Amino acid sequence: MTPGNHKHSGNPSAKSSDSAPSSPDYKNTVKLPPKAGKPVGQPNAKRPEQAVSVAADKGRRIGQPNRGPSEKGQRAQGPKQSNDGKKSRQGAEQPSRASVMPSRTPAASPANTANMNRRRPPEAAASAGAGPNRRPDSRNADTPKKNRPKPVQPIASVTKSKDRPKEKIRERSKGMLRVIPLGGLGEIGKNMTLFEFGNDIILVDCGVAFPEENMPGIDAVIQDYTYVLQNKDRVRGVFLTHGHEDHIGALPYLMRDLKCPIYGGRLTIELVREKLMEKIGGARGIALQQVNAGDVVRAGNDFAVEFIHVNHSIADAFALAIRTPVGNVIHTGDFKIDYTPIDGGPIDLQRFSQYGANGVLLLMAESTNIEIPGTSISESQVGESFQRIMQKAKGRVIIATFSSHVHRMQQIFTAAEKFNRKVALVGRSMLTVFAAANSLGYIDMKPDTLIDIMDIDHYPPERVVILTTGSQAEPMSALTRMAFSSHKAVEIQQGDTVVLSAHPIPGNEKPIYRVINELFRRGAKVIYEDLADVHVSGHAYRGELMLIHELVKPKFFIPVHGEYRMLFKHSELAKSLGQKDDSIFILNNGDIFECSQDTARVSGYVNAAPVLIDGSGFGDLDNRVLRDRKLLADDGIVSVSIAVDRTGVRLLADPIVQAMGFLYESESEAVIRDTKDKLLQFIAKCGQQNKTLSAVAESGQMRDYLKTILFEKTKRRPMILISVSRITGA
Ligand SMILES: [Zn+2]
Ligand SMILES: [Zn+2]
Repeated sequence: MTPGNHKHSGNPSAKSSDSAPSSPDYKNTVKLPPKAGKPVGQPNAKRPEQAVSVAADKGRRIGQPNRGPSEKGQRAQGPKQSNDGKKSRQGAEQPSRASVMPSRTPAASPANTANMNRRRPPEAAASAGAGPNRRPDSRNADTPKKNRPKPVQPIASVTKSKDRPKEKIRERSKGMLRVIPLGGLGEIGKNMTLFEFGNDIILVDCGVAFPEENMPGIDAVIQDYTYVLQNKDRVRGVFLTHGHEDHIGALPYLMRDLKCPIYGGRLTIELVREKLMEKIGGARGIALQQVNAGDVVRAGNDFAVEFIHVNHSIADAFALAIRTPVGNVIHTGDFKIDYTPIDGGPIDLQRFSQYGANGVLLLMAESTNIEIPGTSISESQVGESFQRIMQKAKGRVIIATFSSHVHRMQQIFTAAEKFNRKVALVGRSMLTVFAAANSLGYIDMKPDTLIDIMDIDHYPPERVVILTTGSQAEPMSALTRMAFSSHKAVEIQQGDTVVLSAHPIPGNEKPIYRVINELFRRGAKVIYEDLADVHVSGHAYRGELMLIHELVKPKFFIPVHGEYRMLFKHSELAKSLGQKDDSIFILNNGDIFECSQDTARVSGYVNAAPVLIDGSGFGDLDNRVLRDRKLLADDGIVSVSIAVDRTGVRLLADPIVQAMGFLYESESEAVIRDTKDKLLQFIAKCGQQNKTLSAVAESGQMRDYLKTILFEKTKRRPMILISVSRITGA
């Protein structure tokens, strides 16, 4: 980006570009990767034709619409209207919106859409009829798929499935917006949504999910983004709502194979930069673009994305207004409504309502807390609790929270300073996020408030606050180590007050209580039960979601970011607010949702089964590896070694039978002896029939035989490993 192109040099996005230039005089760079139309912060000059033509369809010239005639049936939801009446509410820190979109003509006249409907495949027609539109997930979520391109850099291996049905992608319907969730539906985690129109694709978020208990040894779970890579030349950008792992964690995997700009808030982009550096050695060839609330980013010919300020448990969180030729889509990202947030002001409800007034085609709203009635408490209440705790505590105060929660971090610093305490940080991710947030000026503190964790003993206990990771009792986290006396710098002592300032993520309760027990055992006072005081959620409750529905009043609605019951409840909520049954779509990951101005349907699906990442760096894993791991964990292993002479029939020594994780000491000797005896009988029989032992072993006969006798004796089914060595010299 050329500095001269910036209207307002105060715009941080001006400094943030790692990217190739894209100024208007940048004419001869047809080799540029397809880029989003206009980088943020750039004035509203037209992009040079050459640059645009790279992004455009072959054979389609600039300015030549690829959409249906637009003179009739336009709706008042085009980007033009939504752009009008937009005032610079950001005031001083946001002198003007980064770019003003040229008005576009909405596409697809009713006549056109009628034609499209006639081409609708029968099952899609059916699915569009009954609402809320959902169909059973015919694709087994446990069976990742084929065809996944090999990672370029083996930082991890990928689990594939062999038996998933081939994807069903019908030819793209002209003039239809496609929305394909690749993750985040029917689950909390690995959020990613693909939007496709004409020749352009944009992605919203790219997160990881954490492995479940039935995935031993798996480090992370990501989306199957095969479809993205198959169409990578058409991808104009990744748009990030905020910097939580379930929204950015899979970027290091995707961005090895995809070079396109990434847009996000300042903290988000800092965290992404850090992540790419750590996992793939940097962001080479990838433009990391910081945006501010109100910025609009052009992406290809058909998309423009506006970032709308929302409240969430991390700074710089945005909802997105995605303007398309058939209408505007509002994607809430993760949000809550906080009228007294720590930083950045309340959510920009006005903007939601402006879009609503102009007509919103599709709302995609998060569903995390749909089950909780009412409205969530303001983050600022937590600060008061911290102050009370620090005032009362006679010893050190140790607070565990999510490292990404910069606002919580700030509240802890504020409270500590008020009560004359120093703050030390523990845990790698805590230090990383603090560094990023502090470098952006997001932490307001006196320079000497922060002390090194190794120096805490130089201060009296009542002068110390320790801010740590481990609120979910992650096994390697700092708090867990402290609880089990294995942390190098902090030993829990009598008089410590430990505050767990985070809700247990469902499934984590057991390990969390184990840690709490240990903390009590070591003499700490643990504050965890009255969580409302020391933690508030970053996700909207029912009442807040209702307000968003009322403001946005979308034509179509897709609940996102939730397990199935949450999506279902969210659809019920929308219905109770007057959203028509057949305008609500509960989708599965991979579903291809297509809509025009008037119609919507599910037209097929792409592969979207989870992809398992194993950090051990093995080659390609498949489901067998997982099955074997589970088997080993359940019933252990029995190994049998047999040495035969060159005839392949005669034993050179007694078979060696060994077991691990299978037999209790009391039974071990007897079972092994019996197994050996039975095996000798079996081998003798094979000899009589003149079968070589390696053939018998290979055919699986020997394994089946052993399985049967071991099950008879123990009622367990260990994994069985057989090796037959033929000693040719013997
Ligand atoms: Zn989040
Ligand atoms: Zn999330």
